[in-house]
Amino acid sequence: SGTVLGLDIGGSKTRGIVWDDGAIIADASAGSANIQNVSVEIARANLAELFELLGNPKTPVVFAGAGGVDTQDDADALSGLIAPFVRGASITVVHDTRLLLAAGGTSTGVAVIAGTGSAAWGAGPDGVEARAGGWGYLLGDEGSGYWLAREAVRHSLHQLDLGAERDELTRGILDYCGLDSPHELIAHFHQGTTRRYWAAASPVVFSAAANGNTEALRLVDQAGKDLATMAHQVAVQVGVSGPIVLGSGLGSNVPALQEAFKSHLASVGLRDVRILDQDPIFGVPFLVQAAGR
Ligand code: BGC
Repeated sequence: SGTVLGLDIGGSKTRGIVWDDGAIIADASAGSANIQNVSVEIARANLAELFELLGNPKTPVVFAGAGGVDTQDDADALSGLIAPFVRGASITVVHDTRLLLAAGGTSTGVAVIAGTGSAAWGAGPDGVEARAGGWGYLLGDEGSGYWLAREAVRHSLHQLDLGAERDELTRGILDYCGLDSPHELIAHFHQGTTRRYWAAASPVVFSAAANGNTEALRLVDQAGKDLATMAHQVAVQVGVSGPIVLGSGLGSNVPALQEAFKSHLASVGLRDVRILDQDPIFGVPFLVQAAGR
């Protein structure tokens, strides 16, 4: 009880919710404050905008889940950015997968984020924890929105190299970027486009897949498979068979990806899959309660 500010700091956006005795009194979103993806200056500016939108709440407790928080130093750096906005509050920063598992209504199991980035994390009954993936967009993030769009760009460039005709996937990507030729994608990709920009292009892949484009279908299947592999690795390491909770932007909203994910998990005998129907931030009240605050 009391006032709690929850933050979910993802690769494209930061959402904040203020709860007062369990009731939501403010809810707003701003740009990413994830310092794996944006500069410290941009992160600070986006947090400032968010706190303004939330009405600069007076709160004794801040609980944040963030992507790209892999060490205590990462968590401390982010806490340091949040602190000036909530003087005197106790600030806890955890990896964003932990919010997702709690939002799935369970303390044990496996959480899989498929959003701008991707990651899996889980907890077993005996307190054992494990992570798989979640290496960030430069190293991994297979099955994420950014990954799907980048693969589509690579496909367009391959088609060009082969002198092949433009298919629907290539045309979709060119349209999204407002470009005439796949040649231009190379400079466009390297010059000033953000992770968020590419993650927002992933619907191009899903709609080409829905229309039967072979490469798009292959990419969606590969995304589901890579996410399932991460989940499987975590499940084995923590010794659980479920629940496996899939969520975040793509995870909660893209049926074709959900189906591919489920079918690859079923092929290794994992069938207890839950699709999260709310944002991971709704895990905050449970985690605050569990921490006894
Ligand atoms: C980050 C992870 C995060 C995932 C989902 C990845 O880019 O490296 O830490 O969990 O995105 O937000």
